[in-house]
This record gives sequence, structure tokens and C-alpha cells, in this order.
Amino acid sequence: MTYDSENIFAKILRGEIPCDKVYEDAHALAFHDINPQAPVHILVIPKGAYVSMADFTASAPADLIAGFFRAVGQVAREAELEDAGYRILANAGADAHQEVPHLHIHIFGGKRLGPMLTR
Ligand code: 5GP
Repeated sequence: MTYDSENIFAKILRGEIPCDKVYEDAHALAFHDINPQAPVHILVIPKGAYVSMADFTASAPADLIAGFFRAVGQVAREAELEDAGYRILANAGADAHQEVPHLHIHIFGGKRLGPMLTR
């Protein structure tokens, strides 16, 4: 899949569309999901044009890959999810119902979560 620079998260990164930001550094931006599936539902996106985890890990520079994953952990810590627990998830492609073609990690928490896969 080629990267579409008009996707909604690209627009959020460029500041063209607002988001409810929870964290930002040189490598990543994190914000609340507009349609939360759990009491805590945060999205973390890398600052770069990558569609999926496979694309990101094949093409991104090492400092961006490291910085992005550090940011995911930092967001989970700052959301105070580390003790109670949380789930991270990244959809890729049609079978996973990826809606937005910019790599994003979902962080879910704030309640006892259901089964890992619902169907
Ligand atoms: P995906 O299915 O691609 O893994 O998840 C995309 C997520 O992005 C969905 O959970 C959806 O609610 C969220 N989302 C879509 N558009 C927006 C938006 O404009 N702002 C925010 N904050 N979240 C969005």
C-alpha cells in the first residue's frame, strides 16, 4: 500500500486538523481516539509517512523506530496504566480493518479488557 499524504493522521501531524493531544516529542504524537473503545483509548503515531508496522520497520531510520517505541511506553506510563495493565494493538490492511493508512498503535486500558480477538 502506498502512503496517502491526505490521510487523516497526516493532516493531524501537519496541524490541519485538531486532536486531543496527550504526548508529543520529536518522533511521535499521541492523542485520544475520537471514538474510544475503552475508558482509555490513545493512538500513538510516528512522525513520518509510514502505512504499517512492516513499512515502518523496513524503511524508517533507527532513531525514529527507537523513539516511536519509547514514546508508546512513555504514553502508557503517563496514562498510569502500567500497574493495572493495558493492551497495545496495530491494525494493518484490510483483514485487520485498518481505517487510517498511517501507522498507529492503539493503547487500550482503564478497565478489565475482553478477549484479545472478538471474532
Ligand atoms: P484503525 O482501524 O485504522 O486501526 O483505527 C483508526 C482509529 O482512528 C479508529 O479507532 C478511529 O476511531 C480513529 N480516528 C479516525 N479518525 C480520527 C480523527 O479524526 N481523530 C481521532 N482522534 N481519531 C480518529
